[in-house]
Amino acid sequence: MDKRMILYRGSLKSCNYHCTYCPFSKHPMSERELDRDRLQWCSFVKSLQKRAKALHIGALLVVPYGEAMIHHWYWEGMAQLSASAEIDAVGIQTNLSFSVSEFLDSYEKAGGVPEKLRLWATFHPEMTTVSEFAAKCRELWNQGILLCAGSVGVPENLPLLQALKQELNGIYLWVNKMDGLRRSYTQKEREAFGGIDPYFMRELMPVPANAAMCRDRLFVEADGRLHTCNISSPLKKKWDTLEDFPIPECSRKQCSCYLAYGGRGDFMNQVLFGPYPLFRIPRSPKAVFLDIEGTLLPAEDSGGEPRNADVAPDVMAGLEILAGQKVCLLFATTLPYREAMERCRKIRHLFAGGIFAGGAHLVLEQKRESFYELEDTWLADLAALKKECGYRILTYRNCGKLYKVTLLRPAHRPWLRQEAEMVMSRVSHGKKVRYYIEKNCLQIVSADACKARGAEVLCRWLGISTKDAAAVGDSREDEEMMELCNFSK
Ligand code: SF4
Repeated sequence: MDKRMILYRGSLKSCNYHCTYCPFSKHPMSERELDRDRLQWCSFVKSLQKRAKALHIGALLVVPYGEAMIHHWYWEGMAQLSASAEIDAVGIQTNLSFSVSEFLDSYEKAGGVPEKLRLWATFHPEMTTVSEFAAKCRELWNQGILLCAGSVGVPENLPLLQALKQELNGIYLWVNKMDGLRRSYTQKEREAFGGIDPYFMRELMPVPANAAMCRDRLFVEADGRLHTCNISSPLKKKWDTLEDFPIPECSRKQCSCYLAYGGRGDFMNQVLFGPYPLFRIPRSPKAVFLDIEGTLLPAEDSGGEPRNADVAPDVMAGLEILAGQKVCLLFATTLPYREAMERCRKIRHLFAGGIFAGGAHLVLEQKRESFYELEDTWLADLAALKKECGYRILTYRNCGKLYKVTLLRPAHRPWLRQEAEMVMSRVSHGKKVRYYIEKNCLQIVSADACKARGAEVLCRWLGISTKDAAAVGDSREDEEMMELCNFSK
């Protein structure tokens, strides 16, 4: 299981900025209220340190109302958490008004690990200038602190955000859709904001709620109340009594903001933003291997027939973003090439080839192609068992040379592992083959052919390391490949 992520919101409701549209800029907090926030945060930090391992929590993002980074207790608590072996990353949303040197000194003195720090910096054009804000982002970045910067997509602020993008010098600048716009963005505005933030199209896409995608996340409030995400209703359980993550509940129709949709378990979130996508810091693999059935496309239906479904809109948007960034997209499938291309005809133009037939056929379009071949001679053994075992033999060849065999049974007779082993023990003696089961298909390929090996070869052809590649899939056939291509994991 991948590690889980928590969002925490304290009882803080005040800010040192005074943006006209924001309620927290007008809410001064008394010493007593601030003290309460401090005590709640410190108690949460202690309990997270104790329970991160048991609850399998790897990351925390603090999402305060108002500004928390002007209060030293947040600096210290984040430092303490980052020192914990269980915690991979600790982040906070901030207006970046704090002193970078004071913060980093204090963070390190409190035992903080800079490599685990993540900042989500929001630009407030009423309160700071493009140059001041960008300089602070660069200062942090140059000190090795990972961060994203961003702002709301107010159409009037377009020139400012374009200037900010320039000055950020490669640091990712996100743009949130403007909730109070009361109209749709014009095509020109979409394009302009998309030019600033290539992920902006994801902001504009409706994401229908699906609580099943939210198993590994929790939103914790200062008093211990829990929600599945920042916009879902409270759950019955409280943080202090939690023994495991509760079954996610959600009464929302849509996951309407980044903190909601960006933290779902959809694989594209991880491809674009790494294992803890809520930090919103994009990663840039040089290549991405993507399984087809059950990953790019919905899995086959119960009768074993491929569903006649399209790629989901969020997947399509993610693929277009990656292709726009010149990331090499590659299929990694057990399907033969032709079938894969037919199933993926709407997206194949974005792909540069891939691993087909479970690794027996590798393609880098227009450049290279190779096959792991099988000997023909043992087909006679398979034919002899046809009646006894109730299968048909399908063969896949290139220029007459065999590279894959499928032993196909009726859909209601899926292969059992013992049956497959029995067949293989009777025919494969001395032959270098391996098999895998896909419901009613027993697939046989060369022992040298697998997705991991295919990924290795394709990376070599591309002149990149497998460490610079990412891979996604949902079956045992994908595991080794995903282990090998674990970019930024
Ligand atoms: S609204 Fe929140 S809890 Fe509900 S499905 Fe979306 S992200 Fe998950």
